[in-house]
Amino acid sequence: MPRLFVVSGPSGVGKSTILRKLVARVPGLAFAVSHTTRPQRAGERNGSDYHFVSEDRFQELIDEGAFVEWAVVHNHRYGTSREALRAGGEGDLLIEVDVQGADALRREIPEAVTVFIMPPAFADLEARLAGRGRESGPEVERRLRTARAEMPRATSYDHRITNDRVEDTVERLAALVKQVRG
Ligand code: ADP
Ligand code: 5GP
Repeated sequence: MPRLFVVSGPSGVGKSTILRKLVARVPGLAFAVSHTTRPQRAGERNGSDYHFVSEDRFQELIDEGAFVEWAVVHNHRYGTSREALRAGGEGDLLIEVDVQGADALRREIPEAVTVFIMPPAFADLEARLAGRGRESGPEVERRLRTARAEMPRATSYDHRITNDRVEDTVERLAALVKQVRG
């Protein structure tokens, strides 16, 4: 049976950066592509970063029962489709969801392996969000408030990994996948 690795962590901790590298590095590990109503950002590809859909289409998918879970995160809707969880074929799957998504996936798929990515210190989150320069000041503040609420949830995850240096984090995640595969 393919294994499902569920990864969460506060905005700006480095999830996109490290998961992209992890998938490139570990054979037989694919990224499960979520649906979202948030606008596509420069550099993102529809169908590989996310399936970008309208509010109406997202609602249709909910009504059709297409999602294993969905949630509102930072004012937009995000969901994991049943289809996305089949996309790995014979291989293992990696999915990035917020803490609500992880709660739902844990209930639906108890054998899923859950990982929470931690910042070395809370101040690093602020520095990384500011350094990324993608969100406005008030939006950064909002993400930091969400992060404060999410961080205590780290204890509900099977594994916690601190993203200090990118390469070390990718290495630790690759080692975890190897260990779970046995
Ligand atoms: P997330 O997907 O969790 O919101 P990103 O992958 O977009 O986070 O990373 C946020 C910012 O932090 C980016 O500018 C990224 O280059 C930087 N970053 C990621 N990992 C590290 C790290 N280990 N050390 C320093 N900066 C990092
Ligand atoms: P971003 O818009 O920055 O890519 O992601 C914002 C947040 O949405 C992140 O916390 C990410 O983990 C979460 N997210 C992405 N896809 C899903 C999903 O399918 N379900 C849920 N619940 N959260 C998701």
